[in-house]
Amino acid sequence: MKHMKILVINCGSSSLKYQLFLMPEGLNLIKGIVEKIGAADSFLKQETKEGKKLEIKKPITDHTEAFKAVVDAILDNEYGVLHNINEIDAVGHRVVHGGEKYNESAIITDDVIKDIEMLSDLAPLHNPANLQGIKAAMEVFSSKKADGKEVKHSATFDTAFHQTIPDYAYMYALPYELYEKYKIRRYGFHGTSHRYVANKALELCKRAKENTNLITVHLGNGCSITAIHNGKSIDTSMGLTPLEGLVMGTRSGDIDPAIIHYLIEKGLTDKEIIEMLNKKSGLLGLSEVSNDLRDLEKAALEGNKKAQIAIDTFAYRVKKYIGAFCAVMVKLDIIVFTGGIGQNSYLMRERISKCLENVGIHLDKERNKLVGNHTGMISTDYSPVTMLVIPTDEEEQMARDAYSLLMK
Ligand code: ADP
Repeated sequence: MKHMKILVINCGSSSLKYQLFLMPEGLNLIKGIVEKIGAADSFLKQETKEGKKLEIKKPITDHTEAFKAVVDAILDNEYGVLHNINEIDAVGHRVVHGGEKYNESAIITDDVIKDIEMLSDLAPLHNPANLQGIKAAMEVFSSKKADGKEVKHSATFDTAFHQTIPDYAYMYALPYELYEKYKIRRYGFHGTSHRYVANKALELCKRAKENTNLITVHLGNGCSITAIHNGKSIDTSMGLTPLEGLVMGTRSGDIDPAIIHYLIEKGLTDKEIIEMLNKKSGLLGLSEVSNDLRDLEKAALEGNKKAQIAIDTFAYRVKKYIGAFCAVMVKLDIIVFTGGIGQNSYLMRERISKCLENVGIHLDKERNKLVGNHTGMISTDYSPVTMLVIPTDEEEQMARDAYSLLMK
């Protein structure tokens, strides 16, 4: 068994999150984040698995500078975990959109870079930032390598897991030429998280992926739900963009598209509308309090009606999708809750599960409370469907993907 150290990167337009894993154990050695890249008050925060914390405040002008700061922090004598950059065998990058071409993770080549660039059209907020991270990492590694050993870079796409969804589930009932001309279809996101928790669930339940049906419910700031059959995604709630589907922290999820025209007639611009749907809707928009469920639970307890409506609408939409996904599978075996809300809020899990007994989902309220935010079963012993809470770990999955690509 070959051991490798794999650095995993999640790069946004002004932030860079990183984690270093020892593989194949999946042991997390260090994690950190660079924030406010390009601003005067940028900073890096890092913590080792032993809890040694480092914080550096200094202007970091671009992603290459950020990546250099990351490498220096990992190599830091006192707060780092490596002595030499050559110890890193590979870098795994998160890429949001892989279009129809990528149904699994890939080693990054010039062609892959071109594809990610081309797909920026479909993910203008994410793919260019992901690409900046890839280019910065490649630049820093090529200049820092003294021993001639080449570091491989891999890409894990958020959309890849959902490429198995059949056409009748991914097509919008729009003129077909929109799909042919512009590739307008449902792609789905959060694929790495759904794949990770589905695999963990199969392991926990000692079931083979063949003939097992799962629903994975990822509820964080972004929320999505996926139906999985034979280990393959067969439907998911997000669409062309992450805006479709469930109610989220600040995203509306499903709405009647005619609302957009109605608002344009009322004088809003298309830019204002898309900003509102992505950043000012969801839990935040409905409650006018916060996008954080913890704040809403508190406000609702204090009698805030809008906070209560936001919570109820959120739970109702999840329940509706669970019902819909039960209907597309012969029989449901396992349902998994994950993400910040799915893992932490036993109250939200309880709200969602109410009345789901008619599809075989029986929550054990005590187990649900006791599981906390850890992995565990929360259904009753007699429940036909096994209910699980499984903390997601997209970064570990990315490291696993990079490891298996390198072992090929
Ligand atoms: P992201 O999608 O940005 O990765 P997370 O998966 O970390 O976000 O989820 C963040 C959300 O999880 C927060 O907005 C908050 O609403 C929710 N959350 C975290 N802890 C709790 C908790 N103890 N109770 C209820 N909600 C929680």
